[in-house]
Amino acid sequence: MSKRDYYEILGVERGASEAELKKAYRRLAMKHHPDRNPEDKGAEDKFKEANEAYEVLSDPAKRSAYDQYGHAGVDPQMGGGAGGFGGANFSDIFGDVFSDFFGGQRGGQRGGAQRGSDLRYTLDLDLEDAVRGTTVTIRVPTLVNCKVCAGSGAKKGTTPVSCTTCGGIGQVRMQQGFFSVQQACPRCHGSGKMITDPCGSCHGQGRVEEHKTLSVKVPAGVDNGDRIRLSGEGEAGTQGGPAGDLYVVVSVREHQIFQRDGKHLYCEVPISFVDAALGGELEVPTLDGRVKLKIPEGTQTGKLFRLRGKGVAPVRGGGAGDLMCKVMIETPVNLTRQQREMLEGFRDSLHGDQLHSPKASSWFEGMKRFFGDL
Ligand SMILES: [Zn+2]
Ligand SMILES: [Zn+2]
Repeated sequence: MSKRDYYEILGVERGASEAELKKAYRRLAMKHHPDRNPEDKGAEDKFKEANEAYEVLSDPAKRSAYDQYGHAGVDPQMGGGAGGFGGANFSDIFGDVFSDFFGGQRGGQRGGAQRGSDLRYTLDLDLEDAVRGTTVTIRVPTLVNCKVCAGSGAKKGTTPVSCTTCGGIGQVRMQQGFFSVQQACPRCHGSGKMITDPCGSCHGQGRVEEHKTLSVKVPAGVDNGDRIRLSGEGEAGTQGGPAGDLYVVVSVREHQIFQRDGKHLYCEVPISFVDAALGGELEVPTLDGRVKLKIPEGTQTGKLFRLRGKGVAPVRGGGAGDLMCKVMIETPVNLTRQQREMLEGFRDSLHGDQLHSPKASSWFEGMKRFFGDL
């Protein structure tokens, strides 16, 4: 049977970058991983095929030998191609690609008992809850130990037997060119045990899918991206291995009034141009309710007022930040005839005198200089 082209296996162009290769391989490996496709010979073959392709193409020396000579350049059966099969072995590649998926625990060490995968859950919170802390109940889909077989995968009353392929060691030695490389046993996937009479409830997996209901205590001051670790609440391990952890990742919903930046809060407060001109007291919102804010006369739009300590006390400690209120002057609309007349009278009273418009006067100065320079 002729071997398939490595690039074709991974579904990438011949000029694919290292990152593209890795991405393609990761996708295939996740899809065809034996743990996800138990008892599926087709998936196992595809998984191995992808492994082999990636092993060659991810190594620059092997890749160039393959590009030049095809399979003959890298096939160990053909007498060791350029570069040989020195460094990389199955577990190196495996560990590298899977470490960020499985918290680095899975790596290449595929013994009997394995730690369960870590899980990630995104928790959407209102700003108020993130700032004050709260307790929420979440439902997480996960794998738990099968209660019928107590996680062994073997039918009640039976026990798994030693794997006949590896003699119960879980590892087999493979000859690759001049080197002998140890790999996880393809038959028992490294567990060393075979289940002859699988548990009907979990189909021999030892684990079943279940929704777990958990109570999560969210400390005050958490922010977007903060993680709360629930130790041992991830997926159950296999064959008595410890459970993984559950990471609850905080995502704070947008607030209709406040924006948060670290420990400070920001908000915009509209005020009338009359209040801005005359000064006065303004009611502004804080997370603890309304407070009064004194506005001096002649306040310009965009001015920031700082309310100390009205921000957020960060979860990692340190004092509370501030609330910054930005006043935005609002132009009055829907004027009555009488109001119009009053404003017209007010405009007349200004006589175009720039004394009352500090910004406009400096702007006109600038414009005069600009045209003078032209
Ligand atoms: Zn079971
Ligand atoms: Zn075995």
